[in-house]
Parts: sequence; C-alpha cells; structure tokens
Amino acid sequence: MTNTHHSTAGQQDMLAVRYSRRYRLCQVLTILGVIFLFALGSLSLIDNAHILGALLISNGILGLLNLYLLSRTKNVERAALILSGILFVLSMSLIITGGKSNTGILWVYPIAAINLFINRFWPAVFVFCIFSVCSILLLLTPLSFLLMTTYTITEAIRFLLTMLALNSICLAALRSEEQAYQTIMQLHEDDIRQMAYYDTLTGLPNRWSFKSNLQRAIEKAKKDEQSIGLLYIDLDNFKQVNDQFGHEAGDKLLLEFSERLSNAIRPADKLHMPMAGSLARLAGDEFVVLLPNIKNASNASDIAERILAIFNGGFVVDGASHMVYASIGISIYPDDATEPSELLHNADAAMYNAKHNGRNCFRFFTQEIAENLRQRQQIENGLKLALIEDYFTLVYMPIFDCKNKTVVALEVLLRCSSPELEGIGPDQFIPVAETTGLIKEIDLWVISEAFQALSLLQSEHKFKGMVCINISGVELKNENFPTQLKNQLTTHKIDPKYIELEVTETAFVVGDVTNLKILNELHELGVSLALDDFGTGYTAFNQLIHYPADCLKIDRSFVNDLFSEREARNKMVMIIQNLAELYDLRVIAEGVETEAQLTYLTEIGCDWAQGYYLSRPLSWNNLINFLKAH
Ligand code: C2E
Ligand code: CA
Ligand code: CA
Repeated sequence: MTNTHHSTAGQQDMLAVRYSRRYRLCQVLTILGVIFLFALGSLSLIDNAHILGALLISNGILGLLNLYLLSRTKNVERAALILSGILFVLSMSLIITGGKSNTGILWVYPIAAINLFINRFWPAVFVFCIFSVCSILLLLTPLSFLLMTTYTITEAIRFLLTMLALNSICLAALRSEEQAYQTIMQLHEDDIRQMAYYDTLTGLPNRWSFKSNLQRAIEKAKKDEQSIGLLYIDLDNFKQVNDQFGHEAGDKLLLEFSERLSNAIRPADKLHMPMAGSLARLAGDEFVVLLPNIKNASNASDIAERILAIFNGGFVVDGASHMVYASIGISIYPDDATEPSELLHNADAAMYNAKHNGRNCFRFFTQEIAENLRQRQQIENGLKLALIEDYFTLVYMPIFDCKNKTVVALEVLLRCSSPELEGIGPDQFIPVAETTGLIKEIDLWVISEAFQALSLLQSEHKFKGMVCINISGVELKNENFPTQLKNQLTTHKIDPKYIELEVTETAFVVGDVTNLKILNELHELGVSLALDDFGTGYTAFNQLIHYPADCLKIDRSFVNDLFSEREARNKMVMIIQNLAELYDLRVIAEGVETEAQLTYLTEIGCDWAQGYYLSRPLSWNNLINFLKAH
C-alpha cells in the first residue's frame, strides 16, 4: 500500500521545477554579480581606492569559484549560501568605504534585497538579522571608527529604516511564496492519501482502510457490548461482463452497483444507521458492508435481502442489459469471530458457501462452514508437506479399445499419502490445490513423473499406448505452461504423439482468448487434447469447432445413467457419441462398471473405454504385472 512518505509524480514535478528555478536564479545572479564586481573593482583600482578595489575583485573571484562549484555539484543550497556571503561582504565593504563619491550606500539596497531572495525564508531571516546587527554596529556604535567615510546620524538612521522597510517587504514576499508552495504540496499529499485509502473507481474506502474501520467498530462494540454484522458481497457473472463487453462497461456497472448499494443500506427506519466507512470495495467485484450495533441476526439478513433486491431488473450499461447477481456471506461479531481479519475471513467463507449454493442468495457463517475451512486448511498443509516430503505417487488406469479389448492408453491419477490427507482423494485435494496455487507445482510433478514412467514402459515393457495426464484448468491461464511442457518433453525425450492432456470441460470459458491461445500452443507441441468430464460443462456444442481438441471423455455420470429411467440422462452418451463423429473426435467413455455398459458403448461406436469393470487404477508394480498378463 502507498503511504504518505512517497511523493506523487505531481510532487516530484514541483520539487524539480523549484530546484531548477533556484538553480537558474543563483547562476544568473552570480554571473551578474561577478561582472559587476570586476567592473567596480577595476574602476576602484584606477581611482586609487585600493582596499575597495581589492575587496571587490577578490569577491568577484570567489563568485567565479562559486559558479564552477555550482555547475560541478549542482548543489544549489551551498551556492546560495556562498552567494549570500559574497553579497554580505560586498554590502559591508560598500558601507565601510563609502564607495565612489560616497554613493556606496545606495548600492547596498538592491544587493541586500537580492541577498534575501536567493535564500529560503528562514535562512533569509538569518541573513537579514546578521546584516542588521553588523550595520547598526558600524553606523551607531564606537565600531564606526572602522568606517572610511562619515555618515551623519540622520543619514545612518534613514539608511537603517529604509533597509528595514525594504527587507520586510522582501521577507513577506518570500514567506507568501513559500506558503503557496507548501499548499500545493499539501494538495498533492491529500491526493496520495485519497489513493491510499480509497478506491479510485467508486470512491469507497478500500480494503486497507476498511480493516481499520472494522477494527475501530469492533473496539466500540466490545466496549458497548453490542453486535456487528459483516456482509461480504461478491458479484456473480461479473467476469462475463468484463470479458464480453470490456473493462469500461465493467467499471460502469460497478459504479452503478456501488451507488445502488449505498442507497440500499441507508435505512428508512434509521434503526441501524450506517456509519461513515461502513461500506467498502475490497477488490474487483467484492464489496463489504459493516452493520454496527445490530440487535440480532435478522437485522443483517434484512439488509442482505435488500441488497439482493437491487439486482432485480438487471443493470443497463450503454444500452446493454446485464444480468448480474450477488452472493452474500454474513458473519456476526462476537458470535462468529472477535478479530477483524477472522470476521472478514468468515464472512468470505460464508459468501463462498452462498456461491456454491446456487448464487444470488445469502448465507450466514455456520459451524459447518467453519469445519469446512478447517479441513481445507488441513488439506493445504498436507499438500505442502507432500511436495517437500515426496508423499505423492501416481496410479495408472488402463484405457481399452472397445473393439479388440487391448490396452491403448493409461490415465495417470494422483495419490497423496500425507498423514493429513488420509482418506482424501484428488477430487477433494485438487480443488484446494487450485485455490492455493499449489496446483502448478503439482501438475509439473505429475507430468515429469508420468514422462519418466512412459520412458520406462516403452523401453522395458514394450508399451505402445498413450499416457493421459490430467491438468488443471488453472494451466489454461498460465502463459508459462506450454514452455514448461515443452521443456519436460525434451528432458525426458518423449515423443508428444504418445501424450494426451485431459482438461476438464468446466475449465473452459466461452470466448476467453487466453484459454484458446494456450490450448493452441499446447496442440502445436504435438500432444493431443481431451475434453474431460464432457457434458458437465457449459460448452455450447457448436463451440467445439473452435477448440483444438482431439478427444471427448464422456463423463462417468452419463455412463452410469445409461439405462436409467430418466430420458434426458440416458440419451446423453448417444448424443455425445454423435457429436464426436460430427466433429471427427475420438471418444473415451469413463466409469464403465458393467458388461452391459461396455457392450452398449461398443455397439454405438465408442472408441475407447475405462472403468472399474475393465480395471481399477493400478500401482506401478500392479501395472507391470497387468501389462505382462495382457
Ligand atoms: P477424472 O479425470 O474424471 O478421473 C477419473 C476419476 O474417476 C478417477 O478418480 C478414477 O479413479 C474414477 N473412476 C474411473 N473409473 C471409475 C469407475 O468405473 N467407477 C468409479 N466409481 N470411479 C471411476 P480419482 O483418481 O479420484 O480422480 C478424481 C479427479 O481428480 C479426476 O477426475 C481429475 O479431475 C482429478 N485428478 C486426478 N489426478 C489428477 C492429476 O494428476 N492432476 C490433476 N490436475 N487432476 C487430477
Ligand atoms: Ca481425467
Ligand atoms: Ca472425468
């Protein structure tokens, strides 16, 4: 997060302009001063005013030196100080010597004024004080014996008063310039604060400032023994709006939503008046509402219902209507948590639960959700441990050609023997790996292990079939994945035609260009691609033509329902088979558990099949025995 110690680009510009202005000023004034000093000095020497002449010329030389130093080191402050010194010596010498025909004192006025202007305010005050003290000492005390000329008392006092007036004006001008400068810097500073604490799109507090608001609300509630409701709102379908209509449309929708949201939580009855900062945008399409001082949980669900109602009728952006909804999770202080981050975390978990329960609804945080969270945490720990301690293994599930019943491929399936993951299969741990990002490492491990196995099978066991590897949908967003796969193919000297990657159909997002780009890159490597769990996703069948797929894997549930009473389900296998023929794709039926299923599949022309009826997933040793037997 940005903090106020960082300066904005605006502030840096200001500093740069100010610096270059002072630099120029010092430079020009020193040059002028040097010319002036040499000219006056020479004149004085000609006039036989030796002391004055020598003083002026040596000051001129000092000025030259200052110019050189300034251009070398760019140190404006020091140059201004030296210039100040030169001007001071110059004015004092003009007072002492009286200058030519006693006009010296007149020159002191502009010189003193310049001397103030080249400095900042406080150094200028300092210079002014020194100058005043020295001139009073010279003009009005016994030190006047130093003077080479005489001034009447009236002349001396007039000089001092004029100097005082002139210098006061200069100092006032300097002061006001400095203040203007400071005001501008402050404005920039406020900009930074605004950026650091508030979301730039909606103007709502951001995650960071919301956390401190929440902290404060909790402290207050603790003192007053009150409850707080926290609503975590996540928009459903918002990603589609962004993907299909562009970020600008998405931004407009979010803005509209945040306005409706603040209206929705502004209660007519003022029972739970929202306090400032009770609304925040945490990220993208995630918002939170803080309800301080609620009497009971139904206060929170009333508000949640009101929020859900603002989606009625959809959102119209630039003439297009968008059907977005919200999933809302609610957690209550002190029942569900007493710490701000935990309260937020729990509301988030409840929100996820709402999302998985059909969206467009709200859910309270419950013990069941808490248990779920705990389990996910345990799985995550188990997976991390497995990566370090080598707890992962592969099992191999033979895939058969339906016609001649020979083994044509092996699907590798992941197993994990971490103590934390006892009894937990990939169905449960892969989703956790996906949300925590561990999946990328796991997928690479599986690929490398499977390639090693294939090498061995080909060289020692005359295996001629393919190896089918499941990869997570996450990889379809991972730009590095095709290169990583390519490197693995090279390292293990694998011919890509023996490799099939299975990606679950639900990972596909219609119209997502990254997905398609990565799929094409993978395909260009020469590996084949299978759409796993086909029929469970949302692929409009006519979209198939756009995917570089080679194979459809009919989901186990459809094979299971082959002879069920439900018409809509028992026809799916046939439909997918026809579809595959239309697009010239190979078909693998999963989950074949009976002879009848296999016979049916063979009859309708399904190419390959796998399932417990044919063989269970096998450990490496069992696989070797199995291959020998076949
Ligand atoms: P999937 O790709 O659909 O894998 C098939 C799953 O169905 C396997 O479960 C397999 O054991 C099971 N299965 C196969 N035939 C039958 C059958 O006849 N009856 C029954 N009841 N089940 C059958 P498993 O190994 O638990 O894998 C579950 C899911 O986890 C896989 O579904 C896949 O999506 C994922 N997965 C497994 N291994 C990996 C992996 O190495 N990487 C990634 N990214 N995902 C994996
Ligand atoms: Ca699979
Ligand atoms: Ca599957």
